Amino acid sequence: MVEVIGFGLAGACVALQLQRAGYDVRVIDDGCKGSSQVAAGLVNPVAGRNFEPSWEVEKAWGIALPFYQSLGSSLFHSLPILRLWFDDTDRSKFERKRELVRPWIANVTDEGVLWKQGGWLDCLRFLKVAREEFLAKGGEWRNTPEGGLQIWCAGASGLMRNDFLDVEHRSARGEILTVRIPDWGESRILNRAGWVIPIGGDFYRVGATYDWDQLEIGVTEKGKQKIERMLKTFTKCDYEVVDHVAGIRPIINRSMPTIKYQKGKGWMVNGLGSKGVIYAPRVGLEMIERLS
Ligand SMILES: Cc1cc2nc3c(=O)[nH]c(=O)nc-3n(C[C@H](O)[C@H](O)[C@H](O)COP(=O)(O)OP(=O)(O)OC[C@H]3O[C@@H](n4cnc5c(N)ncnc54)[C@H](O)[C@@H]3O)c2cc1C
Repeated sequence: MVEVIGFGLAGACVALQLQRAGYDVRVIDDGCKGSSQVAAGLVNPVAGRNFEPSWEVEKAWGIALPFYQSLGSSLFHSLPILRLWFDDTDRSKFERKRELVRPWIANVTDEGVLWKQGGWLDCLRFLKVAREEFLAKGGEWRNTPEGGLQIWCAGASGLMRNDFLDVEHRSARGEILTVRIPDWGESRILNRAGWVIPIGGDFYRVGATYDWDQLEIGVTEKGKQKIERMLKTFTKCDYEVVDHVAGIRPIINRSMPTIKYQKGKGWMVNGLGSKGVIYAPRVGLEMIERLS
């Protein structure tokens, strides 16, 4: 019996893939709201200001997309991402990187560059469907550990508790708004400083903030105002804020997903950072390879 502690993106990917590989698996989850429950689910192959492709994104997404699709066709919403130019210097920077990012370019205009292979995962639905498959296939579910071989997928709360020795982290709190914009009709994901994701109907998710200092607090008025300022750089339409959430991204130094073994404790899968959707299925698979 393998015990997987934590059922966010990491734990769900580890538990399901272990089960599919024939292991008996018990999930332990304390029911607290992890970052997977607030994540916007954005998949952006070329995120950031410097037009750098995400680390081994083709390999990781080549594992992740079929995994999500195996759980249901409507979990991942494929959408073009319009990365708007900041200014002429930004555009020149893109021109210098054009060859490197060519696989993801759909179009380049005076407005910006349109990336392909982007979209968003409905993380809440993913967790629900993953749990249903896990239980339907005979998986056990408990609130507290019972022992045995343990794989800790405890996210930022595990990093902040120092569950494992010598794991330095710089986890970052983030806030996101969900807004309703009846008159906009934008169907692409927009990205510049921050992003806006159309999630259906007149609704959009907008974010996100980064705060490395105040990890313990939840949503803030300051965060809300910052996101509203971001939103106004994308549209002049009137909007209504319908939801405001906060969570903590589990970031280990060097910002890499990490698998670690500690004698007497077991395995750790953590450090998915701000790109858990891209990396969780791959790191789950690598964890299973280590076990066998
Ligand atoms: C505001 C924000 C926006 C984000 N947007 C995106 C995005 O657009 N795209 C993207 O890819 N990523 C995004 N992320 C990052 C993403 O959320 C993380 O990479 C990912 O969710 C981390 O998953 P995890 O399973 O490691 O941790 P978590 O989701 O935190 O899961 C850990 C689980 O373990 C449980 N747990 C912890 N300790 C114990 C214990 N002792 N016993 C039992 N259970 C325990 C917790 O309750 C929780 O359920 C965002 C994060 C934030 C905060």
